[in-house]
Amino acid sequence: MTDRFAVVGAGQMGNGIAHVCAASGFAVTLIDVSADALAKAKATIEKNLERQVKKGSLTAEARDAALALISTATSLDAVANATVIVEAATERKDLKLQIFRDLDRLAPAGAILATNTSSISITEIAAVTKRPADVIGMHFMNPVPVMALVEVIRGLATSDATNTRTIELAKALGKTPVEANDFPGFIANRILMPMINEACYAVMEGVGTPQAIDEVMKLGMNHPMGPLTLADFIGLDTCVAILEVLHDGLGDPKYRPCPLLKKYVAAGWYGRKSGRGFYTYTT
Ligand code: NAD
Repeated sequence: MTDRFAVVGAGQMGNGIAHVCAASGFAVTLIDVSADALAKAKATIEKNLERQVKKGSLTAEARDAALALISTATSLDAVANATVIVEAATERKDLKLQIFRDLDRLAPAGAILATNTSSISITEIAAVTKRPADVIGMHFMNPVPVMALVEVIRGLATSDATNTRTIELAKALGKTPVEANDFPGFIANRILMPMINEACYAVMEGVGTPQAIDEVMKLGMNHPMGPLTLADFIGLDTCVAILEVLHDGLGDPKYRPCPLLKKYVAAGWYGRKSGRGFYTYTT
């Protein structure tokens, strides 16, 4: 039986995950509480598929076939026929726990309940359901259609069958799965976020301008993108949320979110998605 996906949360990650599911031939329902977010997600997917057609990496027929596989819904009830559910809603623990309580009630038996969380404990999310063996972390990277990695994170109670199925699913989506254990931030953000946070401290202390810091890391360390450009791309609200999970979960002051980063988030400067962060954006 071919898998059918549901993606909960249609923000920058959710639209990318739905794009990749559909481009890989899977039917996918994109679900968000915001009808506006769903409309934007659909438009973004169309634009990104079109870009692939222009580049010659996708045919016009394949684009049309992918678009025909995507449906949208504003109610979580739409997970009823999914065999794989990937939650990609806002990085807030209370929100994710509630979504998983609801998924436990609404998702068919045997469905994979995956979360795209960047940092929140898979074990804790799984524990609010009556089927923790079916819950797993499936951590895509941004932008999803471009980035090869999927970090696959087992919670304490995740079954071998769920782990194996998730690894196979990541491959079926054209991604390279890498396994990580369930500790705050897993592998990717345990290592990335302290670097981004340190770059924010360097701005706050006047060590360098954002441009200078990004230039040093690009030219000096061969990073494709500087840490502050990357933070704006990820979303500064998401960066603070991840740092708070690292700080609370590991108890080490080295993970405390930089006050300047928190100030930007308090001002609504979330980075690229809100038009302003360390840099300003017009599109
Ligand atoms: P985003 O702010 O772009 O989108 C979040 C979406 O979730 C919004 O559209 C919002 O309306 C929706 N939402 C909120 N509550 C909901 C609910 N109850 N039901 C359904 N939808 C709901 O955020 P994002 O950057 O797409 O991040 C989503 C998740 O992916 C987070 O857990 C984040 O940590 C993770 N993630 C983000 C990145 C990144 O680079 N931004 C990378 C990997 C993983």
